[in-house]
Amino acid sequence: KGFTYTRSGNPTVAALERQLGALEDATAVSFCTGMAAISALCLAVLKAGDHVLCSDVVYGGTVRVLREVFERFGVTASFVDTANPSLFRDAIRPETKLVLIETPANPTLKLTDIAAAASAAHDAGAWLAVDNTFLTAAAQQPFSFGADIVVYSTTKYIEGHNTTVGGAVLARDETILEQLRFVQNAIGISQSPFDAWLTSRGLKTLPSRMERHADTANKVARYLESHPKVAQVHYPGLDSFPQQDLAKRQQQNGGGMLAFELVGGVEAGINLMNKVKLCALAENLGAVETLITHPASMTHGPIPAEERRAAGITDGLVRLSVGLERPEDIIQDLEHALSA
Ligand code: PLP
Repeated sequence: KGFTYTRSGNPTVAALERQLGALEDATAVSFCTGMAAISALCLAVLKAGDHVLCSDVVYGGTVRVLREVFERFGVTASFVDTANPSLFRDAIRPETKLVLIETPANPTLKLTDIAAAASAAHDAGAWLAVDNTFLTAAAQQPFSFGADIVVYSTTKYIEGHNTTVGGAVLARDETILEQLRFVQNAIGISQSPFDAWLTSRGLKTLPSRMERHADTANKVARYLESHPKVAQVHYPGLDSFPQQDLAKRQQQNGGGMLAFELVGGVEAGINLMNKVKLCALAENLGAVETLITHPASMTHGPIPAEERRAAGITDGLVRLSVGLERPEDIIQDLEHALSA
């Protein structure tokens, strides 16, 4: 009863939306991918003439859709270092209607202070949306710091097993939710029931997985930091992480993602990726398996090289999504590849 056509509503998809919403005391609308969720959010809250202010370090697909799709329809976007409060405030324009931040950001792990971003956005009459894909509600709750909207690629930790693509937008404001549901049906970008069912099953172990991902990532980050062939490790759980205080304030742990630079730059990175056996070379993240990625040529390829480098996404940066394998096995794989 009430379900007439799966594009506009389906009982399995509705069950997943109830579960996702319950996790954050909000209401969730799900979509067929994370990019569909981000696009739906823009379609729901923006119109021609509006401006989006976005973090300078975000998933490459987010940059691509804002620049190469929405700009054609009169919505402009600019990308600023949202970790720098004064730069951030200065970049807000009278026509800014949406501030979109990713924290920790893909792939450098740079953080943005959610409470400061919320107050800057609200002072300008804009909504604050947080892409919480890297931590999920199990390790960071953006609504409690004043965010209006939370966005997910459920493809990652939420489903967690490398078996689906999906996305969700969560909000508390009924006018945003009404628009999201309208767009979901009008554009036809709803989640498939089978993927919703798998996502719902993955969700049952989310807190345990996130704890284990973070525990192991901590160990792997410490190992990498002590390795003579590693020049720098970016991980919010390390004492050397420049925004560690902020991480402690808004995150329950460092998460399962880390990035690092090798002493030998690009060449050394390629060599490492060709030598690992347990870590799989892949675009995805947030899965049970450890996944290794070269952001400059893979996930962040759509961003022009100069901008990428200016945002700290160097050609030699390696991203690691630490899986649920035994920490010793992951470390041994990296040790073997680094010494090869
Ligand atoms: N947001 C973040 C932080 C991501 O890492 C990704 C994908 O890598 C997306 C959004 C897009 O999600 P999807 O690949 O499910 O479309």
